[in-house]
Amino acid sequence: MEISSIHNSIDLIKEKKISILELNQYFISKIKKNKNLNAFIHFDEENIYQQIKSLENSKTNNRLYGMPIAIKDLFCTRNMPTTAGSKILSKFNPPYESFVTNQLINQGSILIGKTNLDEFAMGSSTTTSFFGNTINPKSNNISLVPGGSSGGSAAAVSANLCLGATGTDTGGSIRQPASFCGVIGIKPTYGLCSRWGIIAFASSLDQAGIFANNVKDTAILIKEIAGYDKNDSTSVNIKIPDYYKNLNKDLNGKTIGIPIEYKIPGISDEINNMWEKAIKVFEKGGAKIKEISLPHTKYALPVYYIIAPAEASSNLARYDGVRYGFRSKNDSSLDEMYELTRSEGFGKEVKRRILIGTYVLSAGYYEAYYIKAQKVRNLISKDFKNAFEQCDFIVTPSTPSSAFPIGEKEDDPISMYINDIFTVPASLAGIPGISIPFGKTKDNLPLGLQILSNHFTEQTILDAAYYLESIHE
Ligand code: GLN
Repeated sequence: MEISSIHNSIDLIKEKKISILELNQYFISKIKKNKNLNAFIHFDEENIYQQIKSLENSKTNNRLYGMPIAIKDLFCTRNMPTTAGSKILSKFNPPYESFVTNQLINQGSILIGKTNLDEFAMGSSTTTSFFGNTINPKSNNISLVPGGSSGGSAAAVSANLCLGATGTDTGGSIRQPASFCGVIGIKPTYGLCSRWGIIAFASSLDQAGIFANNVKDTAILIKEIAGYDKNDSTSVNIKIPDYYKNLNKDLNGKTIGIPIEYKIPGISDEINNMWEKAIKVFEKGGAKIKEISLPHTKYALPVYYIIAPAEASSNLARYDGVRYGFRSKNDSSLDEMYELTRSEGFGKEVKRRILIGTYVLSAGYYEAYYIKAQKVRNLISKDFKNAFEQCDFIVTPSTPSSAFPIGEKEDDPISMYINDIFTVPASLAGIPGISIPFGKTKDNLPLGLQILSNHFTEQTILDAAYYLESIHE
């Protein structure tokens, strides 16, 4: 029997048809058989058995009791190392638990391992990890990237090595790999999930989110990781609804916005056809379709690639060889120790971002780049605000292509950055977005549809995805 959903597994455990030990053994053996995917950086069977034992002794019966969840290796975990996919943190054992993983533990989840990612979550391919690349389980004859940066989590869910996984999304790092691996990925509103204990990349954009195999599981998990946390000053104190119980596929009375600016020349027919087909399917379900305009979309990518590196250069200043993980052994002075630790400890892409970020923040350029980018970011947010006065949610492709071969785009950072073209506008505006598998290419590779809605209306995109999933079945 294939086990692949949380909502069914919860019932199996309640009805005592399976024990939490058996459930986890099922996934442990699958992880061992799929080592070649390199989806996990850290996997320790002994640690999993200890978690199961203490859960069995605890007599709790919380919602995620015994559910095996994989954790992107950007979340600090007390009982497992946390590397951010970087050599500089290769020996880092955090002294505390992130808010999100703590919530999962409190709800009874088993943290089944730490998943691979692009170094410090910078990338779209999971090829910049110090721990080697992850392979997309949907690859056919050539090995494809799983997307990134949360590529290990997307691959783990896609290959059914766990029942769900956490990710983080700064400019698309949940939605793009979800699309490439044929799974669901949701980035909630900025502020819904605490960033406490997530290794910072670009703090005004970073958000935790979820990968799952179906909409019901997504709705369950997103509720459990959300919530107010006093340790994150941007965490918002609102009542989190039970998205799962509220799921409703009725589209009558809903208006769907189709942004004209997302019809970009050079996007393949397969992507455009998938998008058109999805629009028709929504129309069939009773929704009204409306063309909308997000006029500043074309600036989103350049704005993102100023703001994100600027914040990264500041956040990554703390890795100096003194406080965390790796330290170069070749120094002869304190200054040299900083320099060598950073040049030996960071990979090429991270260095590129630090250079760009330091440049746009430097005296003389700060106004021209950073401040200007913040102003345009504001205009992009206003575009969405106006759009949501005319429609309930917006539908676009998640990515401009399907998964590409490992090694492609490596020497051309701009072509790698273009992966984020459909995902970064929502990140800059802080609104929620979901990617749901919809259709395939002629080579049988998954494609993803992105659904966006207004701040804190996660239910709207989950409902829309729930409808789409039901049509699929
Ligand atoms: N691909 C984007 C980047 O490289 C997004 C990364 C992310 O969302 N963490 O910055």
